[in-house]
Amino acid sequence: MKQQLVFEAPRRAMPPRHLADLDETGRAAAVSELGLPAFRAKQLANQYYGRLIADPKQMTDLPAAVRDQVAEKLFPTLINPVREIQCDAGETRKTLWRAIDGSTFESVLMRYPQRNTVCISSQAGCGMACPFCATGQGGLQRNLTTAEILEQVRAASSAMRAEQFGRTAGTAGGGRLSNIVFMGMGEPLANYNRVLGAVRRIIAAPPNGFGISARAVTVSTVGLAPAIRKLADERLGVTLALSLHAPDDELRDTLVPVNNRWKVSEVLDAARYYADTTGRRVSIEYALIRDVNDQPWRADLLGKKLHGALGPLAHVNVIPLNPTPGSEWDASPKPAEREFVRRVRERGVSCTVRDTRGREIAAACGQLAAEG
Ligand code: SAH
Repeated sequence: MKQQLVFEAPRRAMPPRHLADLDETGRAAAVSELGLPAFRAKQLANQYYGRLIADPKQMTDLPAAVRDQVAEKLFPTLINPVREIQCDAGETRKTLWRAIDGSTFESVLMRYPQRNTVCISSQAGCGMACPFCATGQGGLQRNLTTAEILEQVRAASSAMRAEQFGRTAGTAGGGRLSNIVFMGMGEPLANYNRVLGAVRRIIAAPPNGFGISARAVTVSTVGLAPAIRKLADERLGVTLALSLHAPDDELRDTLVPVNNRWKVSEVLDAARYYADTTGRRVSIEYALIRDVNDQPWRADLLGKKLHGALGPLAHVNVIPLNPTPGSEWDASPKPAEREFVRRVRERGVSCTVRDTRGREIAAACGQLAAEG
């Protein structure tokens, strides 16, 4: 049965307000509402973004008498880890989170020699209904709030920081969370304002944010063309990933159903606008599926269209399909994959195969559907 596209999240009670939902002005107002002096706003932000502390009991620069009130009004516990699984010798770690209303979603922390990346969710579930994606099968539960998104980042950052102790200084990759990818559950651009708030505070320097480099933040989208243009106009300098998966409308209409609304040419125009406006290369995601989108002619067409639309500003990221339970689809055989990459490159477009972390813990792309 064909699933319906859902752009608007079902109306549900949203979680209570949290400090991380607020920008600088909002924080000042909230602190004044509580009858606290103005300088407390900066102090609280510093605790949260700088020291990664979200429990006022641990905020020793806050008078003991106001800690409970601050906890209640500004630091409700929004998400709790319900399960944590590791693989790749502890270098990949998946966390299943439960929000106050019972919604579940996941994040994955991946340690590499040169970087530490967390893959975060922007929605509980997803309304985009891509048939090869595990999350797409369950539909959309609701949008995550800015604070729920940022709490995933804070948890990852704090885990990395904790590990720094006990690790030999200078150990490759040790220490700091360096990269954020919005490639967990959900379509980030369908939750635009909350995601934008999160991105702004991810890249702002402490005390206003986590201080992660904009270019190390990747927003991945199915291709909501108007929202891509809007994001370009924000001029944040974050990396855009476009989940293309097919160079032709006939196939993309079925693999990425939102293509029925914005066609390949429209979405590539929007990607071009993004690249021109930001000067950043756009990452084109292509989940390679055996006998579905891996034909040599499709590689040629992909290379041709990307060369025309983006030239050197395109980079193709081939993702071997991670089969979802019950699906008849599978990854392409390695020789077909190599030929696909060769042909795309032959058209002058840069192309690499993404490594596949987290397979055995169902943490690989598109498998972030909560199983329990
Ligand atoms: N909704 C956004 C972000 C979440 S998915 C988007 O579609 O871009 C992150 C990436 O994983 C997307 O490129 C998505 O197409 C890909 N993906 C989803 N399911 C997959 C699977 N089973 N195998 C390989 N890649 C998959």
